[in-house]
Amino acid sequence: MNILHKVATGVLMIFRQLYDAVSGTYTYLLASRRGGEALIIDPVLEKVDRYLALIRELDLRLVKAVDTHLHADHITGLGALRDHTRCITVMGEQSSIDVVSMRLSDGDLMRIEGLELEAIYTPGHTDDSYSFRMSDRVFTGDTLLIRGTGRTDFQNGSARAQYESIFNRLLRLPDETMVFPAHDYKGDTVSTIGEEKRCNPRLQVRCVDDYVALMNGLNLSNPKMMDVAVPANMRQGLAQQDIARQGWAITAERARAMTGCKDTMLIDLRERTERQKYGAIPGSLHVPYSDLEANIQPNGMLHGLASATGRQILFYCAFGERSAMAVRAAHEAGLETAYHIHGGLDAWKKADGPLTH
Ligand code: FE
Repeated sequence: MNILHKVATGVLMIFRQLYDAVSGTYTYLLASRRGGEALIIDPVLEKVDRYLALIRELDLRLVKAVDTHLHADHITGLGALRDHTRCITVMGEQSSIDVVSMRLSDGDLMRIEGLELEAIYTPGHTDDSYSFRMSDRVFTGDTLLIRGTGRTDFQNGSARAQYESIFNRLLRLPDETMVFPAHDYKGDTVSTIGEEKRCNPRLQVRCVDDYVALMNGLNLSNPKMMDVAVPANMRQGLAQQDIARQGWAITAERARAMTGCKDTMLIDLRERTERQKYGAIPGSLHVPYSDLEANIQPNGMLHGLASATGRQILFYCAFGERSAMAVRAAHEAGLETAYHIHGGLDAWKKADGPLTH
């Protein structure tokens, strides 16, 4: 797909580049307005308290936490931010993380109120590396750094794939596009595509084979944190067992038997784009997770429907993470007959559940 044909839009009013000096990681906080929804890219676990304070100070509501790839040099703040804010966690579909709320693939749009970022699959540093583009800037993770590129010698990295990602995807963005990487160790904060084309020493190669030879000759030692960070980062999923122990989880097999039965309301918490792309369980109502809070309050639509009809609520989402958070929130709001499908649509499909498109 030609990424020049699609320009992600939105007015970026709040943009913070935050730094973790221990790992040299940049974290980005984005929002379209004060008092509105916010998105965070590549949060670091040790800095979560700082992010939460800043989010409060700026009067923002964190709704999505995203990692550009599975990091080897720090532990991600994704799980902790989700546990504190009930935000959605997002990574690419190739990631070996156990559970995230939402998985993206190339060309998908990641939306929050007032902002859209386009996911560009840029493997090479790892096989799950994504870049995220807005109109005037691109978040390049460890694919393209300032005057450097991410190493390609572990985590299914590939210098050949990275060459393709950089030369055939990122460098085709307009020259003035700002480049915000996931790391810098020299003190640089931002560059542009044009500047990196001209000045990045790794990019002054004649062909892919030259690039592969350059990258394979680097002989880097492994990151200090690697043996701790990689396994920790692979286990960030919300423990749905806790919800199951409360008796609020229903297996996909049991859910199949319940659909079509009149005393159950099936609620799809995913976003419209996920429904279009992956289909939905027949007969389910669409209530996006971002609208859940208002819906489950005593004066909300779902609360009213459940009370008026006496029907139980069965939430589902992509992998069971949003629905697990929804069940907890619903019970806290006094909806005692709320359940969710353990493992989400993923489990539903494995149980050969029918889908409508
Ligand atoms: Fe990395």
